[in-house]
Amino acid sequence: MNSRRDFLQKVSLGIGVTALSGLPASANNSPEPFVRPEKQLRVALMGLGSYATRVAEAMQSCKLATLAGVVSGTPSKINTWKQKYNIPDKNTYNYQTISEIKNNPDIDIVYVTTPNSLHHKHVLQIAAAGKHVLCEKPVADNAKQAREMIAACEKAGVKFFIGYRMHFEPHTRELIRMREAGELGKIMHVNNYMGFKSGDPNQWRLKKALAGGGAMMDVGIYALNGARYATGEEPIWVTAQESKTDPVKFKEVDETITFQLGFPSGVIANCGTTYNFNNFERLYVIGDKGFAELSPAFGYGPIKGRTHLGPMNQPVVTHQTLQMDGIADIILNNKPDPNVTGHEGLKDMIVVDAVYESIRKGGQKVFINKV
Ligand code: NAD
Repeated sequence: MNSRRDFLQKVSLGIGVTALSGLPASANNSPEPFVRPEKQLRVALMGLGSYATRVAEAMQSCKLATLAGVVSGTPSKINTWKQKYNIPDKNTYNYQTISEIKNNPDIDIVYVTTPNSLHHKHVLQIAAAGKHVLCEKPVADNAKQAREMIAACEKAGVKFFIGYRMHFEPHTRELIRMREAGELGKIMHVNNYMGFKSGDPNQWRLKKALAGGGAMMDVGIYALNGARYATGEEPIWVTAQESKTDPVKFKEVDETITFQLGFPSGVIANCGTTYNFNNFERLYVIGDKGFAELSPAFGYGPIKGRTHLGPMNQPVVTHQTLQMDGIADIILNNKPDPNVTGHEGLKDMIVVDAVYESIRKGGQKVFINKV
């Protein structure tokens, strides 16, 4: 499609402004009434917990993606969601009937929002059913599982994405644009951290069998993914240290981890993550011409940023609305993906494996093999 037709089509879909300015579809004050395009990405959510609830609400403002089905082991939840979102019976599944989704032409993609250690099994099931998959972070418990998930999706001929919502967020996009345009100069240093004080001591996040790991798996991955997009490079070595101040609560999983990533250019990213204190959320990249700082950098927002030029004036958006319309645009309209495929999940898991290996080896430097 030529660029003018492409532009006009985007505008007529109501997503042109979204894509060009980073505004969410819901913030597009176009005078023209929005006409819902005939072709929508029909999404089934799998695991109706707190994040799925947030995604479903955000999807009410989507223009290209629509909530069409649910997968849950709890019949009462299915009933509530059916009524709330007008989901027909034939688009509801439980964990025993999920393979039948392959016979449902009204579902295009399943969004896996179950606990971390179930992602591997659930993505393999969805791929086997011939549906595209969007899986929450962390992609899996380790790189081996992530490789198996990618292979299963490739074999089934389905697309595989990770819920890396920051890649659709306007401040983050602007930071990446500045770095790619050379406006920060040669990148010299990165300093990222992401963590929070976790509450309920009985939650699955503190159980290794369901969470795969602790803070590093859950939110350290933002600091790590952020170091990759702040530098535009892939780390070649890792060193890491763990501190545990509450060995009872964090008996099974990591509490606080600091880790360093070495990049081919010689840049080192100094990163941290925790489950045991708040106010730990920042992305800071320094080049020889300038800097960019996002703080908060990875939560639901509002994301705030400043650079050597002053405050970043990017729009405040609902991340999940933008992400779901973005994924729909990639699948339906062949738009380039902003680094949210299963391969990106794998690249992060290779580093997470190395972080845990370094900790097991008393902080030794672990070299990373290529993906
Ligand atoms: P949650 O506990 O609120 O929801 C998990 C859902 O999975 C529940 O509905 C639960 O019933 C269901 N489930 C299915 N099988 C289960 C089993 N065997 N054990 C326990 N629960 C089971 O958790 P959440 O906060 O919604 O997190 C779900 C996933 O989403 C995680 O992978 C998490 O990392 C991810 N997440 C991502 C973001 C983000 O910003 N991208 C934010 C929060 C959570």
